Amino acid sequence: MILMLQICFVFGQKKVVVIDVGHGGKDTGAIGVNTILEKEVVLNVAKEIIRLNKILFDNKHNIYLTRYTDTLISLSDRSRLAKALKADVFVSLHCNASQTVSKGMEVYVHNSDRNIKVSIFLGVSIFNESTRKLGFKKRGVKFANFQVLRETINFCTTVLVEMGFVTNSDEASYLLKPSNIKALALSILIGINNYLNTEL
Ligand SMILES: [Zn+2]
Repeated sequence: MILMLQICFVFGQKKVVVIDVGHGGKDTGAIGVNTILEKEVVLNVAKEIIRLNKILFDNKHNIYLTRYTDTLISLSDRSRLAKALKADVFVSLHCNASQTVSKGMEVYVHNSDRNIKVSIFLGVSIFNESTRKLGFKKRGVKFANFQVLRETINFCTTVLVEMGFVTNSDEASYLLKPSNIKALALSILIGINNYLNTEL
């Protein structure tokens, strides 16, 4: 029995995780109070997720990015890529911006008939890991009809993570530091990993 379990583990299929790196190219995304650009923050976090999956998890998951460089990809191409790769999990990375004094982290899920339960579960897993360990204010797991979520929810577990407000001076300076980018990436990766370990 134990041998069989081991064989299952060894030959178990790796899960496919697509990290959607928001914005890119001429689309800078939100611009921070310290001139930090959302498109750069999300790419830095995404690349760090790939690196940590390699060095800490021995490439346990097959992780792909929707972009690896500073290029603009259409929203429909992002979801098409996830479909072509047969993604198990799709995580879209963004930073928030606000005219008012706002701070904290939030995760969005699409309100849909399919994959909603697992998507909320993944959202909570990432949200808890990030807010508890990094001290971001908890803004919650919320529903939204974002295109990338709408176009991926039918075939995989999908969430969109808003990693703090670049319009908030504390969070904008937090996102400038490479050590904080690493911490953020690690918390998101552990959130994904915890979800995959206990997939519903
Ligand atoms: Zn964005």
